[in-house]
Amino acid sequence: MPEKKDYYEVLGVSKEAGEKDIKSAYRKLAMKYHPDKSDEPDAEDRFKEISEAYAVLSDPDKRQQYDQFGHAGINSQYSQEDLFRGVNFEDIFRGFGGGESIFDMFFGGGRRRGPSRGNDLRYDLDLTLEQASTGMETTIDVPRAEVCPTCSGSGARPGTSPVKCTSCGGTGQFTRAQNTPFGQMISSTACPKCGGKGQIVTTPCEDCRGAGRVHRRRKINVKIPQGVDSGQHLKLRGQGEAAPEPGGQAGDLYVFINVRPHSRFTRSDSDLMLEAPISITQATLGSDIEVPTLNGKARIKVPSGTQPGSVFRLKGKGMPRLHGSGTGDLHVRVNVRTPSALTARQKELLEELAAEFGEQRAAEKGDKRKPEKGEKSLIDKIVDEVKGAVQ
Ligand SMILES: [Zn+2]
Ligand SMILES: [Zn+2]
Repeated sequence: MPEKKDYYEVLGVSKEAGEKDIKSAYRKLAMKYHPDKSDEPDAEDRFKEISEAYAVLSDPDKRQQYDQFGHAGINSQYSQEDLFRGVNFEDIFRGFGGGESIFDMFFGGGRRRGPSRGNDLRYDLDLTLEQASTGMETTIDVPRAEVCPTCSGSGARPGTSPVKCTSCGGTGQFTRAQNTPFGQMISSTACPKCGGKGQIVTTPCEDCRGAGRVHRRRKINVKIPQGVDSGQHLKLRGQGEAAPEPGGQAGDLYVFINVRPHSRFTRSDSDLMLEAPISITQATLGSDIEVPTLNGKARIKVPSGTQPGSVFRLKGKGMPRLHGSGTGDLHVRVNVRTPSALTARQKELLEELAAEFGEQRAAEKGDKRKPEKGEKSLIDKIVDEVKGAVQ
């Protein structure tokens, strides 16, 4: 579990904020992140977060408990259900709707009133890092069940109509009242003859064979906001499967984002990391190097005496953050490359430099016995011998 954020920070209010400020801050954020209104990829999580913060800070007792003991104080005293008890969300959402669904969101249930809802669908969308950075609009191809256009979902051939089910009298349900020690219990079951629809199709539609739904591949436009990351999803309301019976609400379509790894940049939230090679002379003498960014090139001043692994920060050259709250940075780590294929001249210069540093070369170091004055070295002797043999 990630650490819980401070409730005041979540709502963007100060610790001294009054009741009115807290309410208006919550209302503003709730408008933005209400999952039934918002298409932001993390709307539901954000909405839960702000609603919980509001539930605590709008209640004087809970707020005091939180001020004194933080999240631990709240967790030890209240269950999730307790937190939301007595919070007047309807008041907040008056004229905007959706207040009653808050409880459903946290505790489930309650959503299935009336005709049943169509299934939600999931679509996995792969993006490049560049696409995630700029955001984009794209079209996805989604196979799904849709309302049959021929019969408008009734399942009955055009010109005919379904007839009322005689078993249940068109209610679709059998209701039974039973007297028990706890009072009268009402139980209801779906009518087996009409499957709970209350109607029976006698002349089925030819296109859907009476099902009322047909399978189609539908092209759907998706707008990806800039800054999305793997694991986040967008919710497209009502773009899931059609409800199994007429009048039911269509399900939602969830587009899950996967950002593919990049060949050069590694991402950490809104920051990017890049490895850039530099030569020993650039590292030693200092240099102005060019590095790629996600949108073009940038220059970095590498000061003289730069050590391998040094990291330079290019502010604002990372990924944009979701919700337009700025841009991350690009961190460039320089790798000093040791040259391996040297020309004779380069080698000579480096040897001179080594001598200047007072360094002994490995080859010399290994040869413990130094030739005395006038004495020929081993290699010279071999050369002489070879020459002699050729002559
Ligand atoms: Zn049909
Ligand atoms: Zn029936």
